Amino acid sequence: MNRNKSVALFERAQKTIPGGVNSPVRAFKSVGGTPVFIKKAKGAYLYDVDGNQYIDFIASWGPMILGHAYAPVVEAILEYAPYSTSYGAPTELEIEMAELICNMTPGIDLIRMVSSGTEACMSAIRLARGYTGKNKIIKFDGHYHGHADSFLVKAGSGLATLNIQTVPGVTPGVANDTLVAPYNDLDAVKKLVVENKGEIAAIIVEPVAGNMGCVLPATGFLEGLRKICDEESIVFIFDEVMTGFRLSAGGAQEKLGIQADLVTYGKVIGAGMPVGAFGGKRAIMEHIAPLGNVYQAGTLSGNPIAMIAGYTLLQELKNNPSIYEELNQKTAYLHEGLKKVLTSWGQPFVINRFGSMISVHFSDHPVTDFASAASANNELFKKYFHAMLDQGIYLPPSAFESWFLNNALSYADLDKTIEATHLALSSF
Ligand SMILES: *Cc1c(COP(=O)(O)O)cnc(C)c1O
Repeated sequence: MNRNKSVALFERAQKTIPGGVNSPVRAFKSVGGTPVFIKKAKGAYLYDVDGNQYIDFIASWGPMILGHAYAPVVEAILEYAPYSTSYGAPTELEIEMAELICNMTPGIDLIRMVSSGTEACMSAIRLARGYTGKNKIIKFDGHYHGHADSFLVKAGSGLATLNIQTVPGVTPGVANDTLVAPYNDLDAVKKLVVENKGEIAAIIVEPVAGNMGCVLPATGFLEGLRKICDEESIVFIFDEVMTGFRLSAGGAQEKLGIQADLVTYGKVIGAGMPVGAFGGKRAIMEHIAPLGNVYQAGTLSGNPIAMIAGYTLLQELKNNPSIYEELNQKTAYLHEGLKKVLTSWGQPFVINRFGSMISVHFSDHPVTDFASAASANNELFKKYFHAMLDQGIYLPPSAFESWFLNNALSYADLDKTIEATHLALSSF
């Protein structure tokens, strides 16, 4: 496969953009080689600048859940763009978006729109601190909640990919207020809560983890966290930036039957436009300015083009619940096919899956937390990634990332992916 133009663009990009990319994972550092520069995408396929076609298993890290350039979303953007791309003043569309989200997701009384998942999580933590008057937070090893200072402690995929342990620029004061427990280890959380009695404002968790590959919550883990939060007056935050509107129309809260106090959204919510949101119980959300004194703002928050894109996609998801069943079946089909091929290959592997999130780990032990994800054979993943890319299958360029299926994928695409895996493995 010829990628000469991508190679040339990567060289040019590095002259004016740090590392040639505007978000680190895109640089392919974990898997080596040159990133593929994309020209366009439609449905389940990406097309690069050299004219190669790829079956896409990233879906822009989630948002393209119904495929790229989804017609109703594109049409809505084209309809709204001539009205101006921003006003900096309220619109009816923002109310419709808020009403739709409150209607689709459990326990959201009030919701504030922002422009990224990072902003959503950062604001939710500030709100939890302002509301409780406490400073510390508990997060989980390998979970990513965006790049705000408080979260850059053992923060999953992006940092794991680059093997960054501590982030220069995050002050010890901030880092010391972030306590870290292994995912799925309730006892570790209980210990932190006892040791920091009365000091913990919030526990933030990816309900189904997606930033160390896909890692499922152990039975009772999230319920246990809910109980601890209730007993200790800790704000329980679900980071649903990945899982929101992906695992079901009501996200992980609905799918798992657990209610958080605050929930953050991103990715799917904007249909590929820069959108995030945080929302939850009225008693907490009321502390956000201008109702309360916890300040939070955004010049482009609730941007009309972003809102109409997100609103249109969420409407589709709400009105067609069968989408989730279709996605689930496609992902299960891929899971079965990969399992067969990997089993006959004969080396140890683990496939984790929840709904339309799935990941392959070359590991001889179950992958249940960051330590077990990190101890998988990531050299083998590198080879697998490139062997797939060369066959026109675009997987996430890191073993620490979940794959995201989109509903434009056909069973023929999945068969091709399974067959490509077979060919890749037999060449090792
Ligand atoms: C992607 C992600 C974020 C950050 O969202 P951005 O829009 O990239 O800032 C936060 N939390 C989770 C779980 C994510 O997957």
